[in-house]
Amino acid sequence: MSIHELIEKEIKRQRETLMLIPSENYTYPEVRAAVGSPLMHKYSEGYIGKRYYQGNEIIDEIEGLAIESAKKLFGVPHANVQPYSGSPANSAVLMGLLNPGDVIMGLNLSSGGHLTHGHPTITFSGKFFKSIQFGISKDGTFNFEEIENLVKQEKPKLLILGTTAFPRVLDFEKFASVFPKDVILVADISHIVGLVIAGEHPSPVPYFDVITTTTHKMLKGPRGAMIMVTKNGLQKDADMGKKIDKAVFPGLQGGPHDNTTAGIALALEKAGSSEYKSYAHQVVLNAQSLSSKLISLGFELVTGGTDNHLLLIDLRNMNVTGKEAAVALEKAGIVTNANSVPFDDKGPFNPSGIRMGTPAVTARGMKEQEMEKIALWIHEVVQSIADDNKLGEIRTKVISLCEAFPVDF
Ligand SMILES: *Cc1c(COP(=O)(O)O)cnc(C)c1O
Repeated sequence: MSIHELIEKEIKRQRETLMLIPSENYTYPEVRAAVGSPLMHKYSEGYIGKRYYQGNEIIDEIEGLAIESAKKLFGVPHANVQPYSGSPANSAVLMGLLNPGDVIMGLNLSSGGHLTHGHPTITFSGKFFKSIQFGISKDGTFNFEEIENLVKQEKPKLLILGTTAFPRVLDFEKFASVFPKDVILVADISHIVGLVIAGEHPSPVPYFDVITTTTHKMLKGPRGAMIMVTKNGLQKDADMGKKIDKAVFPGLQGGPHDNTTAGIALALEKAGSSEYKSYAHQVVLNAQSLSSKLISLGFELVTGGTDNHLLLIDLRNMNVTGKEAAVALEKAGIVTNANSVPFDDKGPFNPSGIRMGTPAVTARGMKEQEMEKIALWIHEVVQSIADDNKLGEIRTKVISLCEAFPVDF
C-alpha cells in the first residue's frame, strides 16, 4: 500500500473510533496547515535577532508571537518554544541547570510520573543524574511527611514533578513547601496544561521555578514542547532562562522546527479564548460523567474517581487484565491503553489497569450523555471480552456515534 493510501486509512480510523487515550487530541485545521507549510524549508539555528543563518526576519516574528503568547497566557517572564518534544524539553532543563551526577527527585513511573523524571538506568534523567524516586500511597494520595524526610536525607538539587496517569489535583503549593528554598522546582504540566490555562487546575506558576509542557496533548497544538521560567525561577537564578536556552540550542538541538513554532503560536492564541475555557471545563465534566457511570456499573477506579481529564480503571475485580481489555475495546472501536495501577502485582506489559481520558472526545463535541453511552459499551466489552460478534455490534454503534460528532479533517 502506498503512503498516501495508508494516510487515508489512518484518517478513517481516527474518524471512526473513540480516541480515549488522554495524551492524544485533534489539533486545529489551521495548525495542520502551518505544520505542513513551506516554513519547514527554513534553517534558523539560534534565537530571535541572533541567528546563524540569513533570511530569518519572518521566522523571528513568528517565534516572537509564540513566545509572547506563552508569556501572557501563563504569566511568566521567559519562554522557549524550540524543544522538539516533551522529553527533549525535560532533558534540556536538566542539562541546563545541573551538572552530571547531581541529585534529582521525581515521581516514579508506576505512580504516574514520566520516564524523563528520573526513571533509573534507561533514561537520560536516570543515567546522568543521581535519581531519587518517590511514589503515591496505596490510597492514591501523597505522603508529604515521607517526601519531606526523603528530601532531608537525599538533599536533591532539583525536583521534577508531573503526571501522566494521576486522576487528582497535584498540589504544587504543598510540594513547594516541603522543599528547601534553594531546590529548583520544575513542574511538567504536559497532561494538564489546558486545565491550568482554563483555571480548572491550580497553576504551578506562583510556586515553581520552571514549567515544561508538550503542545500536542490537551493544548491541541502541533507535536512540540515549551519551557517557561517563572518570576520565582529568575529570582532564584537571574540566568535560569539563558541557561535553559543554551541547553536547548546548541546543547541538545540544532535548528528549530519553524513550521511547528507557527503551529504552537496558533494553538496558544486559541487557548486564550473563551471557547477554549469552555472546552477545558467540559473535558472535566465529561471525565466525571464517564467516571461515575463506570463506578455505577461496578468498575473500581484508582482513587475512586477523577478531578481532571483522565481516569484509571483497576480491572482486578473484573478478572481481566488491562491488555486484554484494551485489545477487546479496540475491536469495538474504543481506543485506550493498558496501564499499571499503583502497587500493581502484574508487570508493565500486561498491567491491571486501563487509562482513559476525555480531551479528544470532548474536542469532537461530545458531552455527558455520550460519556454514559461509552461507559455502558466499555462495560459490555469487558463482559464479553472473547465474543467477537458482540464486539462487532458495539463497533457499529461506535461508528454511528462518531458520525454524529464529526472531526474537522
Ligand atoms: C507526554 C509527556 C512527556 C513526553 O512528551 P513526548 O513529546 O512524548 O516526548 C513528558 N512528560 C509528561 C508529563 C508527559 O505527559
